[in-house]
Amino acid sequence: MEPSRHMTSQQFRDAGKRLIDWIADYYERVERYPVLAQVVPGQIRQSLPPDPPQSGEKFDAILASVNAKIMPGVTHWQSPNFFAYFPANTSEPSVLGDLLSTGLGVQGMLWATSPACTELETLVLDWLAKMLALPEAFLSSGKGGGVIQDSASSSSLCAVLAARERATGFRSNEDGCRDELVAYTSTQAHSSIEKDVKVAGIGRRNLRLIDVDSNFAMRPDLLEKAIEEDKHAGKIPFIVCATIGTTSSLALDPLESIGGICKKHNLWMHVDAAMAGTAALCPEFRHIQQGLELADSYCFDAHKWMFTNFDCSCFYVADRETLTRSLDVLPEYLRNQASGSDAVFEYRNWHVPLGRRFRALKLWFVIQHYGVEGLQWLIRRHVELAQTFLRWVRDDQRFELIAPAALNLICFRLKASDELNEKLLRRLNHSGKLYLSHTRLNGKYTIRFCVAQTKTELPHIQRAWDAIRTEADALVGSSQP
Ligand code: PLP
Repeated sequence: MEPSRHMTSQQFRDAGKRLIDWIADYYERVERYPVLAQVVPGQIRQSLPPDPPQSGEKFDAILASVNAKIMPGVTHWQSPNFFAYFPANTSEPSVLGDLLSTGLGVQGMLWATSPACTELETLVLDWLAKMLALPEAFLSSGKGGGVIQDSASSSSLCAVLAARERATGFRSNEDGCRDELVAYTSTQAHSSIEKDVKVAGIGRRNLRLIDVDSNFAMRPDLLEKAIEEDKHAGKIPFIVCATIGTTSSLALDPLESIGGICKKHNLWMHVDAAMAGTAALCPEFRHIQQGLELADSYCFDAHKWMFTNFDCSCFYVADRETLTRSLDVLPEYLRNQASGSDAVFEYRNWHVPLGRRFRALKLWFVIQHYGVEGLQWLIRRHVELAQTFLRWVRDDQRFELIAPAALNLICFRLKASDELNEKLLRRLNHSGKLYLSHTRLNGKYTIRFCVAQTKTELPHIQRAWDAIRTEADALVGSSQP
């Protein structure tokens, strides 16, 4: 008999246990790695064989290659010393939930192809809506509901597509987008909105970037002026994408005013709360979403700050019928009794891909493991740590704060040239002790310090600040008189 090409059940058990041990060891030791991968372009690829093996390798050899060849090229997003960009934090229950999803290997493209995949997702997104005190309109018990997408970029794309169809009476789907539709967002919005209008056929020149106030929040007066000018010019304003927590500075757009303008002019309001949305788990931070009841759609990424590994973007709509009508196609081979019945959600009509993973499992594991109180505790802790860091920056005369430091993101710089600030960031990141990123605010090179890693604690903040001060000493001299 031919030998089996597969792993035996016993080999799989042994290898799987070793891999879980490997991950547990990695989490214990993650601080020993330089946070930012210290490699040059091409180095990892060149270290690997250019051709695939003809006969299969043993699992030991595969794991040895991971250690020797792959790990040097990994930037350690799960390090408690990772303060760059927005986080992609994870947690043990999330990893296990994802592993279970992978093991089940479910492809939940239809309710019928795995009812639990659809129904758990609806349930968990309803749980989340309640945990975050989102408007009732987003609950599945009414006309709305939530769905898990791969990313905030895809969520906002779906908002743009649904808004486009609503504005054109579903004609764009049939004839292509012939109208001069216009979308609005702020100069501080995430670049994904620009990509969305390109993909949706709206055209980049039909995206208006509305100027912001001194807190980097969209100015509603300028928004309304732009809408009126466009209407006067015979164009069709159709969507405003507002942000709760912009990428550069965590600015909060005034949702109540923006929503009022959207209602008056009949525009769709999408709200992107990619990272900051998680803060609403805590009642004391819910002011960030004041006015959200005026939104047609909303998204936040559990894969950023809610201990759920990438990808897990939670997208809600107040009127699911508009969304699903915009994205629905039903070839014969996908027809079945349930899908024709209205008794089930068919999530393939809530986003662009047909196929879908069982992503709700990891979110469900996370919520069950931590409970609402556990998650609230962790978010409060991150905000408290960031605010401690803020006080240290404020007390050092060599630095200035560049944006109102709400929640867990601190934007600061040396009171010196852009070049010196760039040098400071480069030296810190090359030290491997921590990882920070930058942006430009009011034309100035600005360093961003975002506290949201699962295991970040006071000593990490303290060591980061020590490293920053030591480099600052070398660049501009000591703060001591
Ligand atoms: N929106 C905001 C405010 C963001 O900060 C980001 C990414 O950091 C995105 C959208 C895009 O997120 P994703 O990678 O989930 O598409």
